[in-house]
Amino acid sequence: MASADGRGPRAVLAATSLVVALLAATPAAAQPLRIVATTGDLASLARAVTGALAQVEAMIPPAADPEAFEPRPSDLAKLKGADVVVRVGLGFDHWLDKLLAAHGDASVNRRGSGYVDASIGIPLLEVKGSSIDAANRDGHAHGLANPHYWLDPLNAEIITGAIAEAVIRVAPAITEKIIDARDGFLASLKARLAEWEQRLAPYRGARLIAYHNTWPYFARRFRLNIVDVIEVKDGVAPSPTRLAKLAATMREQGVRVIVHEPFEPEDASALLARRTGAAVVKLAPSVGSVPAAADYLALSDYNVRTLAQALSAASN
Ligand SMILES: [Zn+2]
Repeated sequence: MASADGRGPRAVLAATSLVVALLAATPAAAQPLRIVATTGDLASLARAVTGALAQVEAMIPPAADPEAFEPRPSDLAKLKGADVVVRVGLGFDHWLDKLLAAHGDASVNRRGSGYVDASIGIPLLEVKGSSIDAANRDGHAHGLANPHYWLDPLNAEIITGAIAEAVIRVAPAITEKIIDARDGFLASLKARLAEWEQRLAPYRGARLIAYHNTWPYFARRFRLNIVDVIEVKDGVAPSPTRLAKLAATMREQGVRVIVHEPFEPEDASALLARRTGAAVVKLAPSVGSVPAAADYLALSDYNVRTLAQALSAASN
């Protein structure tokens, strides 16, 4: 007796055994992969390369200062069943080591097939020596180099490459889909990057100061010049002497815009703006820092548009 779709019993049987064979060969394909990233930026890039093939979760909540994040015991539960873990590295998410040790699954620990330190292969800026003093000078107490590398959109090529490789290691059956998804994402990214470069081209070499040392990768990509940062040490307000020096630098160098972030204390930036007539512009350091920065492409788009507007207004 033929089945409803016209296939004979032998065809149905063959199809069934094929499905059984596939399930046996690739147990991971039976349910979506679970990817846990420390930040919303890396989670967004993991979504870009996996689409509906993975459940992706970020550990740091979107409206929190990532550099003040301290995990709670409930964060350990997020690692349960994770096939791939993605981190910023460079000390930015140093707290993950303790969680991974407690979690114990070797496959997502260092050197495991599902472990991704996204900083590997990134051309790093502000690489520090081993001196403790040097490591504390720009507010990144634990850092080996400036960790904000995801803010150069072109670094997403390296980051998504590392994520895609790990996903393919743990689920080889979806290799082609992952490669296609990443290619599609990179095509959109490069088209957007061309727009962003054009948008900021009139302000090439523009001098800025920033509250926190978040922007060297962004500034290098778009040929901007961050002449100084207000915050010398994480969480410590600048002294009156330092503020006076910064105001003098801003006047001498013609700095018209102060780059601020949503989680930082506003007093120092506001005071410098009053003293020098510069504008304070709020940029998003991460996906989710402001509602408009809803995903990785929207993050750069928001920052480029917001900064271009501020620089345009400042030059009039
Ligand atoms: Zn930082």
